[in-house]
Amino acid sequence: MRAIRRFTVRPVLPEPLAALGELAGNLRWSWHLETQDVFAHVDPELWRRLQDPVRLLGSVSPSRFEELAADHAFLERLGRVRDDLRGYLADDLWYQREVPDAPRAIAYFSPEFGIAAALPQYSGGLGILAGDHLKAASDLGVPIIGVGLLYRHGYFAQSLSREGWQQESYPVLDPDELPITALRDGDGTPAEIALAMPGGPDLRARIWVARVGRVPLLLLDTDVDQNPDHYSDVTDRLYGGGSEHRLRQELLLGVGGVRALREFSRLTGAPVPEVYHTNEGHAGFQGLERIRELTVGEDAGLGFDDALEMARASTVFTTHTPVPAGIDRFERTLIAQYFATEGGVLPGVPTDRVLALGAEDYDGGDPAVFNMAVMGFRLGQRANGVSQLHGHVSRDMFNGLWPAFDESEVPIGSITNGVHLPTWLAREFRELLDEAGADIDGDLGAFAQALDTVPFSRVWETKRDLRERLVMDARTRLRASWSKRGAVDAELGWIDEALSPDVLTIGFARRVPSYKRLTLMLRDKDRLKRLLLDPERPIQLVIAGKAHPADEGGKRLIQDLVRFADAADVRHRIVFLPNYDIGMAQQLYPGCDVWLNNPLRPYEACGTSGMKAALNGGLNLSILDGWWDEWYDGENGWAIPSADGVADPDKRDELEAAALYDLLEREIAPRFYDRNSEGVPVRWMEMMRHTLESLGPKVLATRMVRDYVGQLYAPAAASARALDGDFSGAIELAAWKRRVRDAWQGVRVEHVESHGVDEAAEVGAELNVQAHVALGGLTPDDVEVQLVYGRADADDQLRAVHSAALAPIEAFSGGRCAFTGTVRLDRAGPFGYTVRVVPRNPHLASTAELGLAALA
Ligand SMILES: *Cc1c(COP(=O)(O)O)cnc(C)c1O
Repeated sequence: MRAIRRFTVRPVLPEPLAALGELAGNLRWSWHLETQDVFAHVDPELWRRLQDPVRLLGSVSPSRFEELAADHAFLERLGRVRDDLRGYLADDLWYQREVPDAPRAIAYFSPEFGIAAALPQYSGGLGILAGDHLKAASDLGVPIIGVGLLYRHGYFAQSLSREGWQQESYPVLDPDELPITALRDGDGTPAEIALAMPGGPDLRARIWVARVGRVPLLLLDTDVDQNPDHYSDVTDRLYGGGSEHRLRQELLLGVGGVRALREFSRLTGAPVPEVYHTNEGHAGFQGLERIRELTVGEDAGLGFDDALEMARASTVFTTHTPVPAGIDRFERTLIAQYFATEGGVLPGVPTDRVLALGAEDYDGGDPAVFNMAVMGFRLGQRANGVSQLHGHVSRDMFNGLWPAFDESEVPIGSITNGVHLPTWLAREFRELLDEAGADIDGDLGAFAQALDTVPFSRVWETKRDLRERLVMDARTRLRASWSKRGAVDAELGWIDEALSPDVLTIGFARRVPSYKRLTLMLRDKDRLKRLLLDPERPIQLVIAGKAHPADEGGKRLIQDLVRFADAADVRHRIVFLPNYDIGMAQQLYPGCDVWLNNPLRPYEACGTSGMKAALNGGLNLSILDGWWDEWYDGENGWAIPSADGVADPDKRDELEAAALYDLLEREIAPRFYDRNSEGVPVRWMEMMRHTLESLGPKVLATRMVRDYVGQLYAPAAASARALDGDFSGAIELAAWKRRVRDAWQGVRVEHVESHGVDEAAEVGAELNVQAHVALGGLTPDDVEVQLVYGRADADDQLRAVHSAALAPIEAFSGGRCAFTGTVRLDRAGPFGYTVRVVPRNPHLASTAELGLAALA
């Protein structure tokens, strides 16, 4: 029989246990061991299975609650942990103490958030990063408010068919069983936001709030009674459905997200954000909603250009996609339909202005598409990639938006991702470090120092325990997977012997897009087999990852791998574990000795799984891509040489796979099995220590969030404040930009003279330049005249450019002006220079911002 309705009955906790509800209501438990221990004490077996306080409290029997309510030792411990949470939520932390003129609040938009296995609202790295960002912000006291969607089925649950083909299932998530609460009006009715939809009724959404430590996370949910079915389905799945479905999700996230923030502030008194950070392009419409507020909203009155300046100043855009095919784009006609000035999502906002923001109106662009990344750059004054290499790749990829500038000058910076230590550091290591007295959250240096007080043999023993824990967990998962694949118990005896806690363990787990090359390791199957089965120095591989449900190619890769791993001769040394998620990840990283990553360079924007492995003493074996390109130092792991230059992809795979096997066979396995008399691999341990020392402080999400605050959030808030004050600054800036754009065709470098250097210049010589510039009606204050110089290549193109501002010295009739300045030649080799005029205004974050430059 099928129920016609379902709901969940929430448990009533006896009064003395009320604090359990308080603890369950804040996701801080997911990174706070003492809180986890309290829940484990409530019911160890249930806790082990569920790892979810809300469902745990929903399943415990009333008699057990009564028992606990009379247990004084437990009540005392519960009270302590509750007080600890209250203190954590109220204390002045880094942000309160050390960030002057800090933004009152920062909105952080993301299509996915990976916080805990108990709230499955993520597909991979982007979501985990967003979760770690919120957690680290909470630990630092940064007043972020997260904004996302609540997907009724999350992403999907993965299992395998008998033939090893990925099967997807979509279990329903009941909000009443999730660690979220509805935002409510004063009279208890759930708060809602509404979005106009072309040709239909309004799309309505409820607002759920998850508490991530100090950080509220607002999740919009269209599964409400007033919505017709096709609207209720807007938040059905993460990354499911076609292009219009995705557009509706993104409209809800961006436009609906801003409205949810306003409701949240109105109902809770939370500060209105001064900065809006969009994690990837999907939430880009938030900027349009803020323009609507300022132009046609209730207390509005700004022109579009003025409002655009306000929105830009306060927006930070992070791009994550170095693969051009991965950029989020829509048919322009679809956008035109949804943003019709009358009857569209944002009534009164001109369609042509919206379309212009996402237009690929540059060389090689497609006039028929609307590009969310391009809109991200146009709506955000500050933008970044997620590793140095990715920043470079992004500047190159989007150079077309600033064609007059060198790649190095494109205004896209980089902040390398990080991971949340308390979430990802194994409990066993945590206890080891606590024993050594290290306050590793507060002091980055303490992390490395603490290690010096622990003998190698202790660390190695701990690592073996973690490997063993992984082996046990993997066996349980394998057995469950095989049962699902239709095997009977009698066939599964071998699983008791699958994997070993003493064999060199290599992990590989990530989503399965083709650039990550799940099956590179299968390139030479015989060679891999020899490595797995080596009688003295075997390796074992633990592999996991989901392919997107529509990605047949990815599913075929999984099947290839599963078929290889199914073979009776190797199945004890290589396993594929279905349904990679945070819960599995937390077992996997600490249990691995080596973390393998072999993407096609440079398509891994950053990657974070290797960082999580490194925190747990894992050594990275990776292509020099993303973060590894930046922080590999020759001693903290291994670099798989990349054959970037080889055009034939097949040849490239072959070369890189061969290099991978060579490293495993000649360096990694020998070092792992090289033991001293106590059985400790001393050289291995030295690398492990060096890894923790060199990477430990860098890979932390707290480092990342501090970088965002210092380099992006605080400057964005300052820019927005400078434009405010009845918006006079924004109005002036918009007018100035119009004036500069209109005048620009008359701006010219007419004449350049140089002194002090001839053909045979030496290092140390000074080059003096005078330039005569026509200003086309602008004043010398409106422009910066620059001497741009650098290495000149064979066809006189400047590389690695620098620029120095020239000073105005003399004004002539007809709006012309002379400028002068000097640079020292501090490097030998081919040198070239030119003179360029760019717009100048204190409100610009970069001289490239307008994309305008007049070159000699
Ligand atoms: C860390 C993590 C990822 C991201 O891994 P990448 O290295 O960025 O591919 C994906 N899924 C889960 C569950 C993770 O914990």
